[in-house]
Parts: sequence; C-alpha cells; structure tokens
Amino acid sequence: MKTLRDIENLQGVRVLLRAAFDVPVRNGMVVDEFRIKAALPTIEYLRSRGAKVILASHIEVLEGEKATLEPVAVVLNKLGVPVTFVKDYKRAFDIIENQMKGGECILLENLRVWDGEKKNDKKFARELASLADIYVNDAFSVCHREHASIVGVPAFIPGYAGLQTEKEVENLSKAFNPTHPFLFILGGAKFETKMPLVNKFLGTADTIFVGGALANDFFKAKGYETGQSLLSKGDFDLRPLLSDQKVLIPVDIIDQNRKNMKPDQLSNAGKILDIGPESIKIVGEKINGSKFILWNGPMGLYEEGFKQATLDLARMIGEATSRGVTTIVGGGDTIAAIAELGMEEKFTFISTAGGAMLEFLTKGTLPGIETLK
Ligand code: ADP
Ligand code: MG
Repeated sequence: MKTLRDIENLQGVRVLLRAAFDVPVRNGMVVDEFRIKAALPTIEYLRSRGAKVILASHIEVLEGEKATLEPVAVVLNKLGVPVTFVKDYKRAFDIIENQMKGGECILLENLRVWDGEKKNDKKFARELASLADIYVNDAFSVCHREHASIVGVPAFIPGYAGLQTEKEVENLSKAFNPTHPFLFILGGAKFETKMPLVNKFLGTADTIFVGGALANDFFKAKGYETGQSLLSKGDFDLRPLLSDQKVLIPVDIIDQNRKNMKPDQLSNAGKILDIGPESIKIVGEKINGSKFILWNGPMGLYEEGFKQATLDLARMIGEATSRGVTTIVGGGDTIAAIAELGMEEKFTFISTAGGAMLEFLTKGTLPGIETLK
C-alpha cells in the first residue's frame, strides 16, 4: 500500500482527499466529531506541505435531517481547518484553478447526492479524478464499499493511503499476528455478519468470549428458552462452537426487569437485554491473563440503558491497556459506548470503522485498500 511518505512533493499539488465525514447529525448540527478529528492529521500533513486539499465524503442522516456536509464544514472551521464549501463538484474546477492557493481546503458536497457514487460509475469517477493530481484515501471505514470515490478514482490518478487509513491497517493487522494469550471479545447482534470472524479467530485466539445478543443464539442452540430475546437470522450450526473449549458464553443474564438470573431461567415472556455480573467477572479474569485483546460489539442493549456490562468491560480493557496489554476495539456501537464513557484515550487503538473493520479482520484486506497497492 502506498502512503503519504511515498509522495515526494506536495507544493501546489491538487489532492482529492476522500475522508469519512459520515458523522451523526441532529437538528443540523454534528453531535459526534470523532471521525472528523480522525482526519485532521492527514489534512494538516497535506496543508503544511502546500497542497491544495479537496475534501470529499459521503454522509447518511436520519429522517428529518438534510443529507448535506455543511454541518461538517462548520466543525472543520471550528477545529482550525478553514474550508470553502462547494455544493456542485463541477464548479470546483474553476475554484481550484483560479482561487485556491497551496495549503487551502475546499469541501465538496455529500458525494451520494450523485447517482454515480454508489454505482461506481466510470464517468463520475473520472470527473472527480480530473479535479486533482493525486488521490488520498483516509476513509478506511468506507473501504469495503466499491464506490466511485473509493475504488473508481484511483484508477485514474495515483492513490495513497492517508494517515488514518494507514493506522487502521497497521493496528488491525496486529490481530493476524497476535501476542498470546489472545482474547477476542465479540458482542452486538447479527451473528450472520460476525460468524466469519469467529471462524477466522478460532485458530489464533486463545479465548473467544461471546456476549450481547449473539449469546442468545448460543442459549437457543443449547435448548434454553430465549423468550422474546433478539436472535440472529439465518441458519447456522453453533454446536461445534459450543463444544469448543476456547469459546466462552455468559453464565448469567439481565432481563427486561433488570433481574439477574441464569441463562436457562428465562420465561417465555422474558427478554435478555444484558449479560450479568458473574459473566463480567469471568471476562475480567480472562482480561487479566491476556496480552492481546480484540473487542467488537456491546454486551447489551446499550442505547436503552442496559449498559452496565459494556461499561464494566470498557473500563477493564482500559485498565489492561495501562498495564501494557495491546487492546484493539472497534464497531459503530462499540465506539458510541466508549465515547459516552469518555474513554477514547484508554485503548491501544480504536478503529473508526464498523463493517469495514469486520471485513478487514475477516479477509485481511478491502477493495479500497487493494486499489492503493
Ligand atoms: P458494532 O456496531 O459495535 O459492531 P453491532 O452493530 O453488532 O455492534 O451491535 C450493536 C447492537 O446490538 C446495538 O444496537 C446493541 O444495543 C445491540 N444489542 C446488544 N445486546 C443486545 C441484546 N441482548 N438484546 C438486544 N440488542 C442487543
Ligand atoms: Mg452497529
């Protein structure tokens, strides 16, 4: 993969910087700046070397919000990156040629406003590419998408990984060559999306702890009553995992009334919404005996207040980091949980990615990474 250090001269060079500015927006304001801040080192690297920086990203918003990057421009300005917001990329040609100086930035409107982005339309990709001399990808969290701004543009101009993308690849790759004991903690939901990861790390992890709604699938496979609990779709055979010594599942749970019980004590009307304190104690002991920890997925229905286990887990992994354990965490909901705790600094590395992280860990690469080789 080519990186920024492979670029010899940036003075006056037009750089199309694909960032991941798909941040949550409420009432027209950005409510979490994590992803914007993650792009700052690359923006600074380019600006300080005199590049003309053309920022591009997509954004998806909740109903009732406008799908525009204007709120991101506001945050960038506040963070010390003055940007000119350009609604139509076709107008950018003129601005870049006649108004922009080295070290300055513009921000293009949400790329998904144009059909060609998601379709990876060649003409659209060529038009975007024609704005710049080189392409820099600092949007690791989108690198699993074969979209125009991810895989299309670098077919026309030389492509390089930005500092964030490079850091993601470097840190997540540590899981392919882990120090031992290696503990893999997997929570959240939708086993169908996470099963490949379990299979992948079954060979290298010393322990895999499964919590969150994923544990419900194991309880069901054991023949327990799962009541109204969230289960994954699809058909998968969990029996081989159940009999694997490496795989641990929760020994107690919290139901909708916050009652703590054994997993086989749930009634037909019951609903498992978090894992219990006994289970957290067991994970805690495993954490204490580990040298490398990979964590994805909350332990409970975090956003509705069933967050005790997730918070305890984050705290314990944070403490392990300060003892010198390598700790890598990621996932959209996992990051939200960590942000609420204000624990962003407490891990060796927090991935900015959700789906891209899972796919990278499973396959070892991503379409957007391959195009930078
Ligand atoms: P990430 O985004 O970190 O990869 P996922 O998307 O896999 O995590 O899963 C997060 C979702 O799973 C959250 O919405 C969380 O509330 C939910 N979840 C976790 N445990 C449970 C549970 N016991 N019941 C229902 N939902 C759960
Ligand atoms: Mg998620």
